[in-house]
Amino acid sequence: MNYLELKKEIIKYGQKLGQKNMTPGTSGNISVKTNNNVLISGSGTCLADLTEDEIVLMDLDSNSLDGKKPSSEKNLHNAIYKLRPDINAIIHCHSPYTSAFAVCHIPLSKPIISENVFYFGEIPVADYALPGSEKLVENTAKFFQKHDAILLANHGIIIGGKNLKETYYKMETAEACAQIYLNSILLGGAKDLTQNDIEEIYQLREKMKK
Ligand code: 13P
Ligand code: ZN
Repeated sequence: MNYLELKKEIIKYGQKLGQKNMTPGTSGNISVKTNNNVLISGSGTCLADLTEDEIVLMDLDSNSLDGKKPSSEKNLHNAIYKLRPDINAIIHCHSPYTSAFAVCHIPLSKPIISENVFYFGEIPVADYALPGSEKLVENTAKFFQKHDAILLANHGIIIGGKNLKETYYKMETAEACAQIYLNSILLGGAKDLTQNDIEEIYQLREKMKK
């Protein structure tokens, strides 16, 4: 895909995030890696309402290549791309249900939904640091050695995937998981999958990678 096609894809998935109420106001950012450069939403933009002009081309050292101002989380996106060559798209959101767990510092680790065990194993919580800070990069990027999705304490969630479509689906899945988890508490508490069930899901995941 060329830059214009990728920008159109970022706009499409930004709108989808908006339709699902996952990007209130100007919160969140989206990026896609291509040919060792990165297209990323501009700082202060509304993901549900992005225009081509609001998407910035930068290099992997966060230098703007088109003179526009990239997202304030540019260094976090780039740290993840450098750590994980298999990740080509990243979405960061302040989506209400996953963010509720993030503000309570509760990881999404309870094995209650097979799809979430399949996609994420668990979603841990990275320690709080000021949005856009180097400390946030330091606290968060390291989790991507073992995970594809991380809750940011008192902030939101960040997810990586092999392309933007897959990353968006993971975001929907994580948000639904948080909503189900919360509702299950109201209903008296979900019953965990057994260790055997979890092993079976991991085996299925390995088989489907081949
Ligand atoms: P940007 O608009 O700079 O991407 O910031 C939004 C955000 O969510 C910061 O954490
Ligand atoms: Zn944020």
